[in-house]
Amino acid sequence: MGITLGAIADDFTGATDLANNLVRAGMRCVQLIGVPRGDIDIGDADAVVVALKSRSCPVEEAVDDSVAAIGWLIKQGACQLFFKYCSTFDSTQTGNIGPVADALLERIGSDQTVMVPAFPANGRTVYQGHLFVGDRLLNESGMQNHPLTPMQDADLVRVLGNQTPHPVGLVPHSLIARGSSAVHQELLSQATAGARHVICDTLDENDLEVLAEAVAEFPLVTGGSGLGQALPEQYRRLCWLDEVADPGRLVPAQGSALVLSGSCSRATLGQVDAFLEHFPGFALDPLLLAEGETHFDEALDFARQHLVHGGPVLVYASADPERVKTVQGALGVEGAGMLVENALGRLAKLLVGEGVGRLIVAGGESSGAVVSALGIRQLRIGGQIDPGVPWTQTPLEGRAAPLSLALKSGNFGEQDFFTRAFKVLDELTQETQL
Ligand code: ADP
Repeated sequence: MGITLGAIADDFTGATDLANNLVRAGMRCVQLIGVPRGDIDIGDADAVVVALKSRSCPVEEAVDDSVAAIGWLIKQGACQLFFKYCSTFDSTQTGNIGPVADALLERIGSDQTVMVPAFPANGRTVYQGHLFVGDRLLNESGMQNHPLTPMQDADLVRVLGNQTPHPVGLVPHSLIARGSSAVHQELLSQATAGARHVICDTLDENDLEVLAEAVAEFPLVTGGSGLGQALPEQYRRLCWLDEVADPGRLVPAQGSALVLSGSCSRATLGQVDAFLEHFPGFALDPLLLAEGETHFDEALDFARQHLVHGGPVLVYASADPERVKTVQGALGVEGAGMLVENALGRLAKLLVGEGVGRLIVAGGESSGAVVSALGIRQLRIGGQIDPGVPWTQTPLEGRAAPLSLALKSGNFGEQDFFTRAFKVLDELTQETQL
């Protein structure tokens, strides 16, 4: 039997966000990194989420990667396909949401899909086709100044209209209030009238449930991770998905425990301080890293010395804004970032090679650097530590047990995240042993 849901996401953290919500809603989920090719062992996964980097790259590249990934997911027998983008509809003037959605519809031979970016739990709602972040329109939410995907219009019908040659429809809230059959009927009549993409109003979780029921049998849906959380219940109703007792369970973890932090976000700085009250840590100084190998070797030795006893040990470049400014003044913003990311990637590779089996990485870019240094292509998604941050596991060549990995974006997680995460991992894996 094939998978139930095959999804593509236009960036890495977006993919994890969707995968995490799918697990919480009862699906066993694997996240793949980059366009999958050939045979990949996805175990007993009900859902596969492919993480692409297609949000702000050239349109053609986004379309090619998305179509290739969807082709692979179709081969896995997916009952439904999902194109995941940000709940703030992050896109450029010319794409990439519209062109990718058009190409996917063409690939599967379908003539309509819905656009449901809303994530009410995080304050992202849509009314009369206008996207709100909290109580502000999208173009007044700060997103209008985003460096890569500035969103200067909250009217999604108009935004999408600029990205596709096809008519864009709207399902207003007044219709959603009439229930899923009414929505379904409306979508059918809009399809007949030629509306290829239909923006859907969404004010709360209840609206998401109505929409999920209305579109559960669509071959392709698009939206944010809020819709993802509402769909699994429909898959169970349609008997496409069994009840899974513990979808976030992981196999017992083995190996020592390491934390690498390249995030300078406020939440991470608090987490670093809290960790250092109880456990050892080494502060990486980018200025010293720039001078040669000595500082890197000291960090490596320090980590090795504490990993002998199983850890946990922390190596961190995290620093307060003033320190970061000084370092960036001396090395340049990119230069400093590259030095730190490179050091974290090398540390991860060496220390995992020497027996680290439980690894936390703090920082979005830092996580990307570590994932690529380790050559990771797939992550089995486990239970969550804090909202939006699950434990994951990835197979390690030559080792019986997988690497347990938690990738935390800057501002995520409570103060005690680094220490509590290892306890959560023990709980997630103990249940397997029962
Ligand atoms: P976050 O998720 O908190 O934004 P990221 O890892 O995405 O964290 O980004 C932090 C960036 O800052 C990375 O490029 C990292 O290499 C860089 N960095 C980390 N520590 C320092 C430092 N002490 N000085 C300058 N840059 C740093």
